[in-house]
Amino acid sequence: MPAYKLLLVSTSVGPLGTGLGGGVELTILNLAKALHQRGHELEIVAPAGSQIDLFKIHQIAGAFQVPCQEQQRTDPITMPGNSVLANMWNYAYQVHQNYDLVINFCYDWLPLYLTPFFHSPIAHLISMSSLTDAMDGMIAAVVNQFPHTVAIHSQTQADTFSFGKSLRCILNGLDLSLYEFSDRPNNTLAWVGRIAPEKGLEDAVQAAKITGIPLKIFGLMQHQDYWQQICQKYPDAPIEYLGFLPTAQLQQALGKCRGVLMTPRWIEAFGNIVVEALACGTPVITYHRGGPAEIVRDGETGFLVEPDNVDGLVQAIAHLDEINRFACRRQVELEYSLTAFGDRVENWILTLLSLKA
Ligand code: UDP
Repeated sequence: MPAYKLLLVSTSVGPLGTGLGGGVELTILNLAKALHQRGHELEIVAPAGSQIDLFKIHQIAGAFQVPCQEQQRTDPITMPGNSVLANMWNYAYQVHQNYDLVINFCYDWLPLYLTPFFHSPIAHLISMSSLTDAMDGMIAAVVNQFPHTVAIHSQTQADTFSFGKSLRCILNGLDLSLYEFSDRPNNTLAWVGRIAPEKGLEDAVQAAKITGIPLKIFGLMQHQDYWQQICQKYPDAPIEYLGFLPTAQLQQALGKCRGVLMTPRWIEAFGNIVVEALACGTPVITYHRGGPAEIVRDGETGFLVEPDNVDGLVQAIAHLDEINRFACRRQVELEYSLTAFGDRVENWILTLLSLKA
């Protein structure tokens, strides 16, 4: 494959490194690493205040977008004045002819709409399942006019869109050198994610209360009211909130846990945290819903539980010690390494660029 010049445009909901962008932040870093390792030349454009290891960022000021998960299905597209989304894409438009390809990480209407106006192709990596009609309509329009330019992270995510069969599934990948395998866990569980209603933290807290096994909670405090409600409802649950940790500390903490609980209410597109936990040798108990259920191998690298069923979580916790922690690490080495991810991303790029030529 030739070395390409690539312009990566980051999420518009917050600066990289703050956690506001959720899993997209780690995805951008890993995709950039995978492509850089293969000799491609990259520039990353992201909101002002962004920080990311290894790569220089072209920082753009402006007001953040409201995350799509906080919108109703029929809500119209809105943008704040002095929008960072508009400002980033204004910059991208000015420089795009110096690049072979622009890669879009924003789950936003504007970059999709702009696709036909750019002279270089835009590859869109869609990081969420179907949420609003306006977004679905615009993604569908791009898929129709520019086949192969839209990718997603899991088959389950693709299936939430009526045109899912036309989307390219590239899964995700991790820099495994940053995750240490650990086979000596303490008797604790972990829950990791943004503290927000769509993540269903209350079910994990209830499971901790029933089993009496301490639950460590990691992630950005996005909805303080939601957190307070959980604390009031389960005042004596053995839980501890430890904040949003950088990867180096998060992986150390995950390795010390017997298992990670994933309890999403929505259809999680992928669930980076699942592969991060497995990389440390920590099995994952997840609802049979969304991307995490596609990753975890029931009975081998964790357990799949009937969605929204706390008793199911409790039963699975009782079987955690039957999981071989080496099998967890091994699964990520085989399927979600930077090499495996880089192969999938390069194939996608090659397909869409060769179609262009
Ligand atoms: N994360 C982190 N530190 C923490 C908790 C979470 O860096 O203390 C990161 C984690 O690595 C993952 C992201 O937050 O990449 C959460 O992404 P996920 O795909 O699980 O969910 P999303 O927030 O995108 O819905």
